[in-house]
Amino acid sequence: MEVAGLDALLISHAPNIRYLTGFSGSAGMLLVQGGEATLVVDARYETQAPEETAGAARVALAPRTLWEGMGLIVSAARPNVLGYEADRVTVRAAERIAKLGAPLVEPTEGHVESLRASKDEDEVEAIRRAADLALDALRATLATVGPGQTELQVASRLEAALRDRGSEWHPFQTIVASGPRAALPHARAGERAIEPGDLLLIDFGATVDGYCSDLTRTLVVGRAPDQRQRAVYEAVHAAQRAAIAGVRAGISGKDADAIARRSLESAGFGKAFGHSLGHGLGLEVHEDPRLAPTAEGVLPPGAVVTIEPGVYFEGWGGVRLEDDVFLSNDGPLLVSPGAPALEEVS
Ligand code: ZN
Ligand code: ZN
Repeated sequence: MEVAGLDALLISHAPNIRYLTGFSGSAGMLLVQGGEATLVVDARYETQAPEETAGAARVALAPRTLWEGMGLIVSAARPNVLGYEADRVTVRAAERIAKLGAPLVEPTEGHVESLRASKDEDEVEAIRRAADLALDALRATLATVGPGQTELQVASRLEAALRDRGSEWHPFQTIVASGPRAALPHARAGERAIEPGDLLLIDFGATVDGYCSDLTRTLVVGRAPDQRQRAVYEAVHAAQRAAIAGVRAGISGKDADAIARRSLESAGFGKAFGHSLGHGLGLEVHEDPRLAPTAEGVLPPGAVVTIEPGVYFEGWGGVRLEDDVFLSNDGPLLVSPGAPALEEVS
């Protein structure tokens, strides 16, 4: 904040508030100034906020609205330059921030996000537990999956298994895409019934202590995989393993992406890998850093990132494999166990 010339920073993005204070409520605003933090909440969080923050922030109960409460805090703290999270607020909220009483308001971006990009041990452990839980739920679900079931039925079983094992919530809409629909990288589960010999692509995750896992597995249902399914799977698997071995803190997101892209290009599938290699993972399922052909930024030590190459052919289907990797000071460490060889479920 000193470097950015800010006296105070108003934080409104809920995952940023949670990261700094422990408060997990959906409504609240945090003012950080001079090494002190004040969290403004409404009456719904009167008990929860002091419990969760445990002294990390002073909790102020808004008399009527959060904005009115924050106005009182800003009037008392009298910052000259008040920063706010320009990429996280609506136009209306920015207008309100301008009227909180600070002489100057300054749009800022990414201050808390850049802190969040490097994880400490507890954070990595939560992501690891979320990954273990998710793969355990998948194993249990796959034992019951077969031709004739719809994608939605598979998603429903998987989501129940995730919640049964303690996942707080699904970090994103579970993707279950079968047969030719597996060619849509962000297909949602739909009404299509799985046919024997279909590729089945499942992209899913769990949430533990607020932290997300994000995993993708692709398998073949009800019949032994054919030659093309094996060839594409092996190319994606090889690209994923190369990227997992080669990714590290200190290289750019672009260079990390290139490891998998080169591998798929040499297998003849370069054009069929139409999305980026991965993204940071933490309190949000997509956070800094990015691993993409356009990502010039350097991967920070301590980041947890996904490695998720995929190959898709319209009308045929697709294969994606996604695992979560911790960029430790000693090199990359898998947080999830890594994708297996192509499996058939009956
Ligand atoms: Zn995913
Ligand atoms: Zn992902």
